[in-house]
Amino acid sequence: MINEVDLAGVGVGPFNLSIAALADEIPELHTRFFERRERFAWHPGLMFRGSRMQTSFLKDLVTAVSPTNRHSFVNYLVEHGRFHAFLAAEGAAVERREFADYLGWVAGRLRSLRFADEVRELRSFAGGFEIIHASGRTRARHVVLGTGRVPAVPECARARLGPRCFHAIDILARGLDLRGARVAVVGGGQTGAEVMLEVLRGTWGEVTELSWVSRRPNFEPLDESPFTNHLFTPGFVSVFHELASEHREHLLARHKLAGDGISASTLHELHDRFYEAAITRAGPRVELLPARELVGVDARGAGFELGVHNHLDDQHERVDADYVILCTGLREQLPPCIEPLFAELELDERGRPQVERSFELRRRRRDGERAYIVNGARTTHGIAESQLSLMAWRSAVILNDVLGRRRFAVERERDLVRWRARPSASTKSDSCVD
Ligand SMILES: Cc1cc2nc3c(=O)[nH]c(=O)nc-3n(C[C@H](O)[C@H](O)[C@H](O)COP(=O)(O)OP(=O)(O)OC[C@H]3O[C@@H](n4cnc5c(N)ncnc54)[C@H](O)[C@@H]3O)c2cc1C
Repeated sequence: MINEVDLAGVGVGPFNLSIAALADEIPELHTRFFERRERFAWHPGLMFRGSRMQTSFLKDLVTAVSPTNRHSFVNYLVEHGRFHAFLAAEGAAVERREFADYLGWVAGRLRSLRFADEVRELRSFAGGFEIIHASGRTRARHVVLGTGRVPAVPECARARLGPRCFHAIDILARGLDLRGARVAVVGGGQTGAEVMLEVLRGTWGEVTELSWVSRRPNFEPLDESPFTNHLFTPGFVSVFHELASEHREHLLARHKLAGDGISASTLHELHDRFYEAAITRAGPRVELLPARELVGVDARGAGFELGVHNHLDDQHERVDADYVILCTGLREQLPPCIEPLFAELELDERGRPQVERSFELRRRRRDGERAYIVNGARTTHGIAESQLSLMAWRSAVILNDVLGRRRFAVERERDLVRWRARPSASTKSDSCVD
């Protein structure tokens, strides 16, 4: 049996879930979202007890564009009888486990989602797409790819991947036993910091040595200052999209710590632990190694010898470890199921897909059908692309485009910062909005 829908989604992480939650307000729009997992889960392999969100709970699935939508975080609190308790707790940031529970609660209320239904192939035809998934075939006028990012593993570590050298993405599912081991954590972002904390807490047993290797010049904080937060606004994304690609590359590098730094609370907790260990001389021998680039991972008996290059004094160093935990981030990758579309995609000089302002993948030929992508356009839309901050706004932009009308008022927000040059005719203006 072939089903027909207006919009089909591949993957149900938070980003496509947001589109599904907003589409729930539009009964005339027929949608279906396919997820390979048996049930909704948000990065379960990294869901450490007590780890907190790096973004406000107001940056939920819907609120930014539809505050009365029943799938908001505030409604989740009210329906669970925790509204006043939540306020009383005055938590600076929501626990990730609570936000994951909220996302799962929304997923459980949406009839458009199909779990345990992996998309295996996606083909285009004039005016639509055919989706071959685990439970059958579906035809859709438009599709939205929301399969997330994949682990980034340094080239020099790839040949060593195995039970003792692995990417952290599924660390909690591994049943690790690190008792008595020498452990090297590679990567100086939030995940690296959280894994360090877990090792120090003895989550996987007491280790004897713990090294933290980071390419960054220091263990650096997330920049959450007010003007940096304006990089996560629709206005900035729209300006960014219009820039020349080399200018965008330069800005992406400059903006790194706005989206990819360590939360201040995590840094403080880690520093307290290192300092306490220095006083008490208890616990594992800890070595903090910033400004080091991992350049080699050689097998030594059951363990490894890591080669690191010290960018500070330009020296080569060696770190010995029984376990190597790679906290080296995630990278964008088009899902293999869309291989039949690859030849149609317009790519930039580095082979990356070109994405329209409306999040549509630019294709050489199309006949009204559109393929959108979420979390796959950092190079064209900026650092906000892989964060929750503009998730609801982006979902609304996509849904407006699918509907061909302004269902959500996505341009309502007025920029406080004037990003673009002031139009020459009007030197005075009471608004910064172009
Ligand atoms: C540990 C962690 C914490 C984070 N915390 C924050 C935060 O506090 N604030 C913030 O702004 N951002 C945060 N992020 C960044 C970002 O918000 C998340 O990575 C978010 O999960 C991205 O959502 P997504 O829907 O793009 O991808 P994912 O959550 O990765 O979901 C993609 C889904 O697609 C499914 N899938 C893949 N291929 C197929 C297929 N062929 N068929 C069917 N299904 C498929 C996968 O099973 C998966 O469920 C965090 C990231 C991590 C890793």
